[in-house]
Amino acid sequence: MIAVERALEIVLSHVSSLPAEEIDFADAPGRILREEVAADTDLPPFRRSAVDGFAVRARDTASVPARLKLVGSIPAGTYPEFRIGPGETASIMTGAPVPEGADAVQMVEQSREGDDGIVLLSSVAPGQNVAPQGSEIRRGEVVLKSGTRLDPAAVAVAATVGRTRLSVGRRPGVSVAATGDELVHPSETPGPGQIRNSNGFSLRAQCRSIGIEARYLGVARDTEASLREFIERGLESDVLLLSGGVSMGRYDLVEKVLEDLGIKILVDAVALKPGKPLVFGVGDDGKLVFGLPGNPVSTMVTFELFVRTAFARLEGAPDPVREILQARLLASLSNRGPRRAYFPGWLRAGDEGELVAEPIPTKGSADIVAFSKANALLIVAEGQDRLESGERVSVYPLDSFLHKEDRWLAAKNPA
Ligand code: AMP
Ligand code: MG
Repeated sequence: MIAVERALEIVLSHVSSLPAEEIDFADAPGRILREEVAADTDLPPFRRSAVDGFAVRARDTASVPARLKLVGSIPAGTYPEFRIGPGETASIMTGAPVPEGADAVQMVEQSREGDDGIVLLSSVAPGQNVAPQGSEIRRGEVVLKSGTRLDPAAVAVAATVGRTRLSVGRRPGVSVAATGDELVHPSETPGPGQIRNSNGFSLRAQCRSIGIEARYLGVARDTEASLREFIERGLESDVLLLSGGVSMGRYDLVEKVLEDLGIKILVDAVALKPGKPLVFGVGDDGKLVFGLPGNPVSTMVTFELFVRTAFARLEGAPDPVREILQARLLASLSNRGPRRAYFPGWLRAGDEGELVAEPIPTKGSADIVAFSKANALLIVAEGQDRLESGERVSVYPLDSFLHKEDRWLAAKNPA
């Protein structure tokens, strides 16, 4: 049995980035950038007014009310060919170029129309409401770094610097198969001893949540022949995700069949709860196989910790391991034995705005309903028997930490 970090290290050391491909920048969100993107102009490209108002020489507003002669108007999208001389002003729109001679803009709210010009009601300092050319970014400076996961703001940046094509990491082709003779389709009513297949669907949903459309192969029977057939088909993809069949039972044949098919098994027991029997293997051709433990929570947690990380590396993320947060624990947690435990939890802001973490009552690795309420995993280190209420706890935030709007759930989880 190896530590979680060691297992991650092994996985990542066998994952190299897939080739880059060029895509339209509008399709970029969620993808990993594989080039540096630089500004093709200064930003702002000219001295830009931050407000609707009047371009002035600041010293002309030293005593107020200041009466100024209106010499022009500068709508956005035009360039002023005139200069502002002493005692003069021009009306200017937000985002328009500030004319020569002017060194400040007074906002329209601080003005009124006079009999023969404009009256400014308060002074402005030199530079006020003017963004100098290049004050945000200089032409040639890097605005998007290689290895970044692109988001809507990155699309705005690419648009701003005129990069309509971007080089991003190719997404891995992924196949998903469940295993287990007890499984029936969710649309069916299980017979005696049967249960509905949830992992086949949670895995596809986890892939989809990071923008990967996995190919679903269905459910393999617990026989070598059936597993062999599914695994051979799955190995057409870059990555094969299997659930179940990796524990110690006599029908847990996944590891054996993988080896028979020439997959080198590099991980088969991790000091992790839930998820100990995680299997990771690599083919000669670099194909990756994850045999995820069958208990529904184990499947999802091991996907989160290992598969997601491997996918990000495949796409070219240099450091894909998620950052661990610290929070104050609101109830005690115990963890017997030598494995690191990940408990479902609810992470939120406490009364003083600090992070607090509330364990969600759970019956364990089969309790998918408890897990579905979590927005974080609360970590109790290997060898640490107990964490008391009030102590600091390490927290792995799930995507739902940001995306679950149902904050009211927190109130329903007893502290
Ligand atoms: P296994 O590792 O195959 O022994 O599975 C461990 C536990 O997870 C068993 O209780 C299985 O019934 C359950 N399980 C396995 N696969 C699935 C699945 N696709 N959906 C829901 N539960 C599953
Ligand atoms: Mg099974």
